[in-house]
Amino acid sequence: MPRLALVTGGTRGIGAGIARALKEAGYRVVVNYFSADAVARDFEAASGIPVFKWDVSDFDACKAGIEDVRRQHGAVEILINNAGTVSDNKFENMDEAQWHRVLRVNLDSLFHMCQQVYPDMMANKWGRIVNIGSMNGQAGQLNQVNYVAAKSGMHGFTKALALEGAKHGITVNTVAPGYVDTYLMRNMPERILAKIIGKSPIHRLGTEAEIGHAVTFLVDEKSAWTTGSTITMNGGTHMY
Ligand code: NDP
Repeated sequence: MPRLALVTGGTRGIGAGIARALKEAGYRVVVNYFSADAVARDFEAASGIPVFKWDVSDFDACKAGIEDVRRQHGAVEILINNAGTVSDNKFENMDEAQWHRVLRVNLDSLFHMCQQVYPDMMANKWGRIVNIGSMNGQAGQLNQVNYVAAKSGMHGFTKALALEGAKHGITVNTVAPGYVDTYLMRNMPERILAKIIGKSPIHRLGTEAEIGHAVTFLVDEKSAWTTGSTITMNGGTHMY
């Protein structure tokens, strides 16, 4: 039977691209989402990929959610921690709620989710965990102290868990995308979009499918020697 992959935040944007890529590659795939029921229903109908609703920032919800997935589909063998959120503000105006929400959804969620699937991966002596970081977590970004701190923390989490997981056949890696052509970017003012694209020698945004392709590489049986790594994908922006 094909391995089971779970993509958090997989009903739209980059997560949906990853889920589709994994399905195309022959994996069994399920996705999680948080609030947009209609988007989730449309995604499930169009893709045939089952959706599960819970908040990755809540440890108990992750526990119950994974138990539900396990009951219906079996143990999760591949976990893609993709769900994320932003709440931008100048540092002097950023309040505690903005700080904690972004840290909980983007970083605490890794602990919440990995804790649920790691025991099964250890028992099976095989597992793949891929965390979706961000170019901004590598380079820093104005008005995003919370988001950048969370995504930078993800790199430490990846490397530390990679060290522990190695003897159990579990790899842990990060993909750090630059700006990807999701619906958010489609609403961005032309002037700002042109500035972002101008920073890439390839002169375009990334695609959801390109991120999915990188994730598919990392979870492959033959990628067992790649762990604790970050794949940086930003159209070459990082070279400037
Ligand atoms: P979107 O905002 O398009 O989608 C986010 C997904 O995550 C949705 O399915 C959403 O569900 C889900 N989600 C959000 N909060 C939670 C939560 N608390 N619990 C469970 N699910 C949740 O995101 P993107 O596709 O733009 O981004 C995906 C990842 O890629 C994020 O980690 C982001 O930081 C990262 N990234 C994105 C870039 C970009 O250019 N878009 C660039 C670099 C990194 P629902 O809609 O139901 O709330």
